[in-house]
Amino acid sequence: MFSYFSIKDFHTRLQQGTITCSNVVNHYLNEIEHKKNLNAFTEIFANEAIEKAAELDKKRAAGEPLKKLHGVVIAIKDVICYKDHHITAASGILKGFTSLYTASALQFLIDEDAIIIGACNCDEFAMGSTNENSVYGPALNALDPSKVPGGSSGGSAVAVQAGMCMVSLGSDTGGSVRQPADYCGIIGFKPGYGRISRYGLIAYASSFDQIGIFGTNMDDIELMISIMSKPDDNDSTMLQAPLNTAVKEEKALRYCLFKQVMEHPSLNNEIKEKINSIAEQLSHNGHKVDFIDFDLLDYIVSAYYVLTTAEASSNLSRYDGVRFGHRSLETADSIDTFYKNNRSEGFGLEVKRRIMLGTFVLSSGYYDAYFSKAQQVRNMLVENVKNIFSQYDVILMPTSPTTAPTIGDNKKDPVATYLADIFTVFANLTGIPAISIPLFHHSKDNMPFGLQLMANSGDEVTLLQTSKKLLKQYRQAEVTALS
Ligand code: GLN
Repeated sequence: MFSYFSIKDFHTRLQQGTITCSNVVNHYLNEIEHKKNLNAFTEIFANEAIEKAAELDKKRAAGEPLKKLHGVVIAIKDVICYKDHHITAASGILKGFTSLYTASALQFLIDEDAIIIGACNCDEFAMGSTNENSVYGPALNALDPSKVPGGSSGGSAVAVQAGMCMVSLGSDTGGSVRQPADYCGIIGFKPGYGRISRYGLIAYASSFDQIGIFGTNMDDIELMISIMSKPDDNDSTMLQAPLNTAVKEEKALRYCLFKQVMEHPSLNNEIKEKINSIAEQLSHNGHKVDFIDFDLLDYIVSAYYVLTTAEASSNLSRYDGVRFGHRSLETADSIDTFYKNNRSEGFGLEVKRRIMLGTFVLSSGYYDAYFSKAQQVRNMLVENVKNIFSQYDVILMPTSPTTAPTIGDNKKDPVATYLADIFTVFANLTGIPAISIPLFHHSKDNMPFGLQLMANSGDEVTLLQTSKKLLKQYRQAEVTALS
């Protein structure tokens, strides 16, 4: 029986000869098989994982030095291209489609000898907060299978939560890494916009999308981001300045919380109390902690949904059944009917709703009323963030207003689900890095919840180092993968 703690510890044990990559891959394949009911994976790459493990064991036996991710077992969200492997974005429209190339960020991991064990379930085209909008059916929260794992990267979160891989990749357009991490009791890190190449990530809303990382400890997250943040000529929106990993000197930090967030009526009382108690303790320990005004809170979810659906309506126009995607067998008497049939059959309900909403807000007559207004809100937020980070190092917030809801609860009311993104979309609208760290369990349902931290654009290092410290100091219960 293999127990996982961290990549560093795994490598030490490999070097000591107490385990092999083959043992470990077999262990994970068994776990995946035993936990099939959680529906975390859309496809398992079992044979090639076994072959790769054997090859790596040979390399090690021959005395070759270990690469940074030698034998590290990684699962990827089904929106990240992996050459010659299926990719579906959990959508009927891409069923059977095979990637023609590998996403740059994934290639950087493979170049360091990572083992990619499978593709993970998610909401269709990463649109959702519960993983219920998937053509494969919902992924389940391993801590309580009647609850959602969060979304859209629900499967990737469960894969780490339930010990079916060491780390996993998701994508975060409005919270899809941080929120499932929050619901599952693990770490979810969304780097700043442009930190990780988006080449090979299926686009939902290109000016928001960012690949993110799930893990159980900060050392793994730091190692992964240092490898994945390599420059890439295939993504012109990448940040020019390289990731700064230099350890910052210990000093008192300046934290702020938004009054309107902490007083928001949707925020569960116990979550509020726990976050407030962290703020108190930090202040007690000599840090500056202020509660500041944030008047734009009421606009951010609307601005997010106007802008992302607008971008999605354009990004998803390529799935027409000719160049990509499902082709209907219905006879069509015109090219329009042909496209209509293909798209009506291929896309799920939520994706159709968003394509229509996005097309509407971009249409002449409504563009100024919706799209331009939302852009103005985004610009104001960016200005706001500059001002905040001229006075503070870190923003603290809850990740979600509640713990994981029960499956089926939010199905009837999409707007209620959208509103639950209230604390996560801010980081995507402004492009700043953000992380959810698992600190607490709720006394009512014993489900986990986390604390969200955000730092200035380009300042991932503050975020990572602070998270590490806070996890050490305040983690209520040790979080290791379930077995
Ligand atoms: N819940 C948000 C949405 O549905 C976030 C999605 C995401 O980050 N991919 O749009």
